[in-house]
Amino acid sequence: MTKIGILALQGAFAEHEQVLNSLSVQTVQIRNRQDWETHSDLDGLILPGGESTVMGKLLHDLDLFEPIKAKIEKDLPVFGTCAGLILLAKTIVGDQTKHLASMDISVARNAYGRQLGSFVTNADFKGIGEIPMVFIRGPIIETVGPEVQVLSQVKGAIVAAKEKNMLVTSFHPELTGDTRVNAYFLEMVAQGKQDKL
Ligand code: GLN
Repeated sequence: MTKIGILALQGAFAEHEQVLNSLSVQTVQIRNRQDWETHSDLDGLILPGGESTVMGKLLHDLDLFEPIKAKIEKDLPVFGTCAGLILLAKTIVGDQTKHLASMDISVARNAYGRQLGSFVTNADFKGIGEIPMVFIRGPIIETVGPEVQVLSQVKGAIVAAKEKNMLVTSFHPELTGDTRVNAYFLEMVAQGKQDKL
């Protein structure tokens, strides 16, 4: 059975859990190093939305930073939504801060402004079609490296992308009731399992 870890330090982790459980996927919350070690057999990991600065700091404080980064860079399928996207980005525009820095993208935080940054729209997602997107003070991807596939754009800005085992969205697919992007990640997870056989 597929088992997905959800980083549960802060932010919108419960919503991801509900969606995955509704898709009959087993989930475990990763809150500390002990959880990470107990569940060393994860098939995938979700980095949820929330506040990237806080989550990035907690990853270090809880001694989770190095082991998570190493496993992602080995091959663990990972899905970063919103703040999770920021955690995965190699570069944060106008900021020296780096978090996991595993994905070859540069991102601008709070790209839609702090106050008016939350909105809902519909846009095309490569391989899925038109989907609803909920943005909550989300980032945009400003540049992507050569290995990165752009999956969606809203008003000319990149809001979803994939590089090898890493999927990121600026928006929150777990908040719309439309589970196709979550299912898209589960396909990546299934593929990862298949490749290991
Ligand atoms: N604004 C947050 C950040 O920069 C992200 C918001 C979200 O995850 N919904 O970390």
